[in-house]
Amino acid sequence: MHLVLCFCVCVLPVLLLSLPGPCRSAPSLAPQEEGSTSETQGDVKLATEYLQRYYHLKEGPFGRWKRSGQSFTSSVQEMQLFFGLNSTGVLDTETLEVMRSPRCGVPDVEDYIHNRGTRWSKSVITYRIGHYTRDLPRGTINSVVQSALSVWARASGLTFVRSHNRNADIKVEFVTSEHGDLYPFDGPRGTLAHAFGPGAGMGGDTHFDDDEHWTTGEKDFNLYLVAAHEFGHALGLKHSRNPESLMYPTYMHPRQVDLLSKEDVANINALYGTSRSSPKLFPRYGWSPQYNPWLSGPQFPRLMENKCAPDLSFDAVSTLGDATFFFRERYLWIKHNQQYDIKEGPITNFMPKIEANIDAAFWVPRRSTAYLIHESMFWTVKGSRVRGKPKPLSTFGFPIWVQDVDAAVHIAKTGRTLFFIHDIYWSYNENRRIMDIGFPKYISEDFPGVNTTISAAIHKEGFIHFFVGPQVYKYDYTQKRIVGVEKTNAWLGC
Ligand code: ZN
Ligand code: ZN
Repeated sequence: MHLVLCFCVCVLPVLLLSLPGPCRSAPSLAPQEEGSTSETQGDVKLATEYLQRYYHLKEGPFGRWKRSGQSFTSSVQEMQLFFGLNSTGVLDTETLEVMRSPRCGVPDVEDYIHNRGTRWSKSVITYRIGHYTRDLPRGTINSVVQSALSVWARASGLTFVRSHNRNADIKVEFVTSEHGDLYPFDGPRGTLAHAFGPGAGMGGDTHFDDDEHWTTGEKDFNLYLVAAHEFGHALGLKHSRNPESLMYPTYMHPRQVDLLSKEDVANINALYGTSRSSPKLFPRYGWSPQYNPWLSGPQFPRLMENKCAPDLSFDAVSTLGDATFFFRERYLWIKHNQQYDIKEGPITNFMPKIEANIDAAFWVPRRSTAYLIHESMFWTVKGSRVRGKPKPLSTFGFPIWVQDVDAAVHIAKTGRTLFFIHDIYWSYNENRRIMDIGFPKYISEDFPGVNTTISAAIHKEGFIHFFVGPQVYKYDYTQKRIVGVEKTNAWLGC
């Protein structure tokens, strides 16, 4: 078994400068001297430990910290090359800066024997969360882990399934110091996490140093970012020299919403193929080749979804003006409140800009506006027109790890929009346009009886209707209980 990758969290230099670094030498205005004369014993010790850990520098005789010798200098050069520094072999300020940065425990150089073509030989991978950290609520950790895996699922043909079985492929654990493998953690900072490459036993296992402070925000170490990086290792990826890549060994807040660089996508595709979510006009099931007179134009496929299929489910349901919109994959049914007929067809027939499936949707009557969410972006629809370009979900104040939403519903009476994500939910104040304090919370605690992932939700006539696969739960928001259950397809008159 080989340790594939440690997520090195590199603190930005600016941040480091504000830390009371114990072995930081005072900044000098004098020009940096050539050669090793300005290197202190402490610098050499730091560099030796760093190079042994991440660059396979062999331990010298008597375990002494000596900078002499060809291997030390060439290891420094190798490290400088990796990080795009001047490859001088001298421990200059920039080099020491990188070496002091908290980082992933996985080496930047791999032995080729271990790392060539390591991949899972299956496309459905199970994961299990063992020891949790106390830094974050369990529900949040579950969601963050799922979101971090989704980063890779979206880019590849992989599916991740949570399991409670001890034999799960990827075992996620928060541990400290010695923890049963040959790679003990080192207390705060330094190494933040590591992961083993694909394989049996410890293969895929991902460990987080619980001596770090894990957050979902910008402070300390953002669990979503570190986990997404580590899972890259658990899937067989190596460190990248490209600072834009998620697989770069040091920790940085990404500049863009999408964590993966082109290189990351190419590397995961090389191992597991490309994403399944390429444009898919015909959903997996539920289609029947019936002739639909409404779709008779030559530009429309002469196919329609069987709306009365017993297992019909929706991705999103929302009011939009005086109609109710039902989204399923790239298909849409529109039911006008005063009419019996239902219009239907690919979403693009009605909203040409939206060439995607809709995961969640909600309607704010006060603004006569609907919001249609696809993964981490949403469209604004006013009247029947899609306004402008899609905006990122972070507009609502979500932390970065929230990359998709299962369902959303607006409750006009309270002015709140509820966003459901896995087993937690958030409450957004539409009047003040801020997230309510104290969220996320568990769905099952605040909505007794709703214990599963919600596919879609809509508020109508004083009730929230939760769509869960082929069933709809009618929920009394004031009594806090389910008051009825019906079939999903009943909403389309079946
Ligand atoms: Zn790493
Ligand atoms: Zn470990």
